[in-house]
Amino acid sequence: MPEPGAAGDPQIDIVSLPIGGPALEPVSAETSPQELTDLVATLQQRYRALAERLPAIVYVDEINDISSNLYTSPQTLEVLGITQHEWMSDPDLWLNMLHDDDRPRVIVEHERSNATGEDFAIEYRLRARDGHWVWIRDHAVQIRDTTGRAKYWQGVMLDVTDLKEAQRQLAETQKKYKAIVEDIPAIVYIDEIDDAMTTSFVSPQIEELLGVTPREYTDDPELWFRMLHPDDRDETLARYVAGRDSGESFEFEYRLIGREGQIVWFRDSAVVIRDENGAPAQVQGVMLDMTERKEAEDKAAFLAYHDKLTGLPNRVMFEELLELAIARARRHEAAVAVVTTDLDDFKLVNDSLGHEAGDELLRQLADRLREATRETDLVARQGGDEFLLLLSDLDRTPDGVAEIGDSATIVAESVAARVQQALDDPFLLDGTEVYVSASVGVSLFPADAQDAGTLLKHADQAMHQSKRIGPGGMSFHTEDEGDAMTRLSLTTRLRKAVEQQDWELHYQPIVDLDRAEMVGVEALIRWPDPNGGLIPPGEFIPLAEEMGLIEAIGDWVVEEVARQDTIWRDHDLRLELGFNLSPRQMWQPDLAEKIMNRLEATGVEPGNVVVEITESTAMIDPDRTQRILNELHDRGLRLAIDDFGTGYSSLSRLKHLPVDILKIDRAFVRDVDKDRNAGSMVSAMIALAGSLGMTPLAEGIETEEEWKFLLDHGCLLGQGFYFSKPVPAEDITARHRRQGMRVVDATA
Ligand code: C2E
Ligand code: CA
Ligand code: CA
Repeated sequence: MPEPGAAGDPQIDIVSLPIGGPALEPVSAETSPQELTDLVATLQQRYRALAERLPAIVYVDEINDISSNLYTSPQTLEVLGITQHEWMSDPDLWLNMLHDDDRPRVIVEHERSNATGEDFAIEYRLRARDGHWVWIRDHAVQIRDTTGRAKYWQGVMLDVTDLKEAQRQLAETQKKYKAIVEDIPAIVYIDEIDDAMTTSFVSPQIEELLGVTPREYTDDPELWFRMLHPDDRDETLARYVAGRDSGESFEFEYRLIGREGQIVWFRDSAVVIRDENGAPAQVQGVMLDMTERKEAEDKAAFLAYHDKLTGLPNRVMFEELLELAIARARRHEAAVAVVTTDLDDFKLVNDSLGHEAGDELLRQLADRLREATRETDLVARQGGDEFLLLLSDLDRTPDGVAEIGDSATIVAESVAARVQQALDDPFLLDGTEVYVSASVGVSLFPADAQDAGTLLKHADQAMHQSKRIGPGGMSFHTEDEGDAMTRLSLTTRLRKAVEQQDWELHYQPIVDLDRAEMVGVEALIRWPDPNGGLIPPGEFIPLAEEMGLIEAIGDWVVEEVARQDTIWRDHDLRLELGFNLSPRQMWQPDLAEKIMNRLEATGVEPGNVVVEITESTAMIDPDRTQRILNELHDRGLRLAIDDFGTGYSSLSRLKHLPVDILKIDRAFVRDVDKDRNAGSMVSAMIALAGSLGMTPLAEGIETEEEWKFLLDHGCLLGQGFYFSKPVPAEDITARHRRQGMRVVDATA
């Protein structure tokens, strides 16, 4: 490799370099040596002037040697801060200045062009003296000598840093533009205002948002209209036409239905573009996807009416629906019930398990309330642990006054009872089983109030009343500010009574009518009224049946009867003991088992026990009854058909039942001595009992005459107020001590 010459005196064959310039005298045979020398000097000068005035570095290298440098023009100083001399005296300088990321690429290209003889053309970065990077566009061509052999690389290194920066900025701008036009959730479109009303452009987002390709869209001028939500069509089209004809900018909102049926909300901002003559030519618009925003708005509207935690309607919505329900009830003479529910132990849960658990409890409770209520009932959250129920379209009593047992009251009670039952199972909170109860208050329209506000207030008062009495209570609203207990609903009290076994048994003597002696007793249940007195079974047994509480009550009765029998036996009082079974009790699968266990536990003789079922109970399902009675009878228990004459027995059925006693209902016994009809009926029943192999027993004997009549007609057993009302066990004991088994004074 030749030593690089000093700047200004390059040792190169300048003549062979192809350079331009004003035409020179062609060299010919006549050209003198001096003329030739001058010509070369001119050429040299011209080349240098040209090379050194170009806004680029011009260089000449030797072929095949990446480190060679025959000539480099002085612009190195301007471009790279390096003098021509420095450059040419350090052949490795160029390679060293190359950016590490670019170097491999440059070397590969260099080798390729050396091998192929093709141009060396590449862009790379060089580090200038001050450290900044200079983008170079390097382009070299091979120069051949006179023999045609490739000899030099002659190249130009252009500083393209500004250009690169401009390119970079352009790319960035394009990216930004792309982001604006293509990545925003908006569709840009251009409609041509012509007869066909074609869309000449639509941006690609249309495919993502609506599942329609831009092509499909521009090909089908009616597609937009067809995609419009049917509810929006007419108005939207009218707005578009009006906007277009106004010749100005306009904005409108509408829904389009996409390919997948998705509904997309758009806000369309459009402007009318005029042609050079000022005539409207295009509508250019941007359709912004507003769906999320709209959904958020809908959600806000939903939230205004719903409780965030449970998703249930809130108090605001409840009140509105209550107003509607009342208005409807007024028109249709119906009743409406408002039920308020408040957890009794919520603070405890919150305090002991934390608010998270409290929230979870409320969520679970909301689900259970929804399940416990009927489809038509509205469940709402009032706030905190208070929930509201709206029961509408209930039947109204003729006078509009609510009373226990009327249809609206029963529905309200049973829904409220279901709500309370829904809390029977524990809530699982964070792995902990938590039991809660709720206090419930009920108010009724029109009985308690005429407007929504008052109705709610009254339900709330009733609920607080329940709370004062104890957890798990239920109260109806009442104007009576007096005794609190009367306000507790029957169901709540009944539930409590079952829990606390708050019952009493009274016993009515069964009398041998001939000897006027007590031979047995019938156990009759009573419910002590907290206000004093006893509630008769007719007022709560049917409800207990319905509420599924009768089994528990029946169990208690058997137990109590057995216990009483041991006491009497201790007093040397031997009595046949009767007790009553209601239908639900009789259907218990383990009935006989249960009764026997109780009796055996206390040593009661089964033959001393009479199980009474009513005639109507026996006939509900005679086959089943037959099986059950057989089972009881097989265990030695005696059986009685109660209230005989009030049901519709099939005699053939009755004949096959293992029944010992037929209890003639007191409706037939009353005035039996005076009423011919009753008289003949009763004697018929007595005869029937005999023919069936059963002992007749007359209920409800209230007078001596009735007693005598029955006795005269062959009825040897009876009971009734004439002998004794049902009385507490102690009275039976005391009477026995006083007068033995006699039920009437010997003197009477
Ligand atoms: P029942 O089994 O027919 O009981 C006889 C009813 O007649 C009793 O009413 C009794 O007080 C009444 N009575 C007795 N003698 C006379 C009389 O001379 N005149 C009048 N007017 N009434 C008389 P109570 O105690 O109110 O019982 C009503 C019904 O409740 C019973 O009718 C029975 O069906 C049912 N019951 C009573 N205790 C129980 C029980 O422990 N379990 C079940 N499942 N039902 C019971
Ligand atoms: Ca009875
Ligand atoms: Ca009876």
